[in-house]
Amino acid sequence: MKKGGYAGKALEIDLGSGEVSLAGYPEEYADRYLGGFGVNNRLFLERSRPGTDPFDPGNPVVLGAGPFVGTAVPGSSRVMANARVPLTGAAASASGSMGLGAHMKWSGLDHVVLVGRAPRPTLIYIEDGRVELLPATSLWGGGILETTRALWEAYPGSSVLAIGPAGENLVHLSLAMIDACATLGRGGLAAVLGSKNVKALVVKGSGGVEVADPGRLRALLRGLHDRLARWEMRQGALELGMIGAWPMYAGQLMPYGSTEDDLREMTERFGPGAYLKLKKKRIACPSCFLADKDELLLPTTGESVYSTSFLNAAIIGCAMGMKDAEEAASALALLDDLGLDFMTLSWQAAYLLELREHDILSPEDAEGISLRRGAALLRELASRVTERKGEIGEALARGWRGAFELFGEDTRRFTMLVRDQDCLYDPRVSGLGTMEFEQIVSPRGPTSASAGSATYVPGQTPENLRRLTQRMGASEEALDRIFSPPWGMNVGRLTRYSEDWFSLFSSLGICNRFQINRFYHADLIRDLLAAVTGVELETEEMMRRAAAGFELYRELGAREGLGPEKDVPPEAWFEEGPLWGRGGRLRDYFGNELSREDVMALLGDYYDERSR
Ligand code: SF4
Repeated sequence: MKKGGYAGKALEIDLGSGEVSLAGYPEEYADRYLGGFGVNNRLFLERSRPGTDPFDPGNPVVLGAGPFVGTAVPGSSRVMANARVPLTGAAASASGSMGLGAHMKWSGLDHVVLVGRAPRPTLIYIEDGRVELLPATSLWGGGILETTRALWEAYPGSSVLAIGPAGENLVHLSLAMIDACATLGRGGLAAVLGSKNVKALVVKGSGGVEVADPGRLRALLRGLHDRLARWEMRQGALELGMIGAWPMYAGQLMPYGSTEDDLREMTERFGPGAYLKLKKKRIACPSCFLADKDELLLPTTGESVYSTSFLNAAIIGCAMGMKDAEEAASALALLDDLGLDFMTLSWQAAYLLELREHDILSPEDAEGISLRRGAALLRELASRVTERKGEIGEALARGWRGAFELFGEDTRRFTMLVRDQDCLYDPRVSGLGTMEFEQIVSPRGPTSASAGSATYVPGQTPENLRRLTQRMGASEEALDRIFSPPWGMNVGRLTRYSEDWFSLFSSLGICNRFQINRFYHADLIRDLLAAVTGVELETEEMMRRAAAGFELYRELGAREGLGPEKDVPPEAWFEEGPLWGRGGRLRDYFGNELSREDVMALLGDYYDERSR
């Protein structure tokens, strides 16, 4: 493979036999699917068998980084991971950041495939393409922060992917962390690595990424940096990260029926001012021109912790009614250290509270868990789920299916799930934009994959939404279909382009977060692709390849029995009553009420648009 951007190599490690092979993968894959996400889907398709148990040694883990990763293209940090995951059984694709992808590329690798099961706890060390499988018995049982710090010390300048005790104990809501501040693999990827006895993967690369036309790339990057310098929110974003957009998020975090006074109080506890009291420094992925990760100093203990983003601490702080930002940041740090998905665990806590409120779970039957909203409940559950302690800890460790086995299928009404995974967004609160809609159709269950699409920012006019969607490479005909009566904006049709936009970013390796995404236009990405790889494409053809990568992902889901009949919106969306502190009527992006029939019609439109 001679194009710039691509290393052209996939490393395959058989953890059972210890055999390692470094080989090229067909150049045609990069041509058809661009790289990263798309090629990962292709490699996973070939190496996996449908129906394989997620903990079977035959369930491969495929990592991949696209052609922009490791270059200076801003925010090109994405590393993708495919595996069949235990929470839902989905053949899932997950996306992470920090230094792992760049170090893979600087090591001369586009993809790393892990198959089999190591006979004992193992550390995989890769340096410039050379692989060592090392004993990790002394690391086993350790938290992610401690493990990562120990490995940084042993291998200075490397990037560390690690699992915590939750992954080791095969907890279905476990996830892995990269460099202690980026998550990878909602739905139990860490448990899949745990089942393979992989405690950590350390990668250190000292090479670079060859670029086809460095002069052209420099000129394009200058343009991007100039636009960043002129962005009116730049200073706020640099100082405050995602919490800088607190007014946009706050309304969505407030419990149902909150007043202006409640909002003021919550802002004091978890808003920008509260963040600044904990902020130690901002952390960015390689090449990112806007950091949104944090190192925080917890004043009470003097402890220094990393955070995926302080916004996540604010989310659990508001959801669990915590007393202040320090309590929330400390709880989030604990969950990250254990390697637990903070969203799923928070919703499991809220579910137990619902069971308590409806007299299904009495204090006597709660195995000593104090069923009161707050940080203590989350901490107690974190420990029980990680250790699979007691009947409740064991059941919740097996995710929602375990919960229903213990408390009854009927208790599903106290959740908001699609295909056994909890929703991240409640459209009764935020309106049915693409992030909310995508939760129904995503092959892996609810994700935030389309966080960069037009509806991320509330309150846009239809004209502006059309302009933002045009930037995502949708054709004029598609725009006419999306922005037409009766909806004004058809979210089902728009979601198809949002998914393709995500596929483009993840295949090339650009971070899809709103603050990065907003600087990119499909035509600019086309030009960057030409400068980095030497591949000159029309925008339309580039988007066709991005769509092909997403279609392949849907094919992986179809092999596991997923199809339109499994794309069912949660019942809670159609109930007005509060659940997990949220409530209200289902609305579209513009605030108009939606019925179940409307949602089903939009689903039909989504499938129609995907088939075009
Ligand atoms: S926005 Fe955050 S996740 Fe994305 S590249 Fe920058 S630091 Fe990394």
